[in-house]
Amino acid sequence: MSDCVFCRIIAGQIPSTRVFEDEHTLAFMDIGQVNPGHVLVAVKKHAANLYQLDDAQAAAVARTSVRVARAIRDAFGPEGLSVYQANGPAAGQTVFHYHLHLLPRHAGDGMELVWPVKNPAREALEEYAGKIRALLG
Ligand code: AMP
Ligand code: ZN
Repeated sequence: MSDCVFCRIIAGQIPSTRVFEDEHTLAFMDIGQVNPGHVLVAVKKHAANLYQLDDAQAAAVARTSVRVARAIRDAFGPEGLSVYQANGPAAGQTVFHYHLHLLPRHAGDGMELVWPVKNPAREALEEYAGKIRALLG
């Protein structure tokens, strides 16, 4: 997809700062660098989001993410590391080519995620789970 910025990065048509690649994935530096060492892991074959990944892509994303995360840990020594992955505008996705953020974290780094827990009754958990289980076979 020539109008997709990450497809153009993968094709080498626009600059990127690469850290790792394999058959299915490319890891490169996020241009925004929320903290130093902030890396994106993207699939090479265009998929807009998580739902469009095939099994080989999903497995490769997991493998590459773990491998690159360990390298970030050893290179930068962050106090923590957040894995962030958005699907759809409501989730905050801005580039519609599947990617996962590996974000080194430090206490007080200003990165915030509001987590508005609802703590519903067990019956509600069972109801929600039933809807999901029914589709998983
Ligand atoms: P998301 O909100 O999860 O879709 O994140 C998209 C990310 O892509 C942002 O963190 C951007 O900084 C990053 N980004 C956008 N364009 C580029 C680019 N040309 N090279 C590297 N990172 C990019
Ligand atoms: Zn793309």
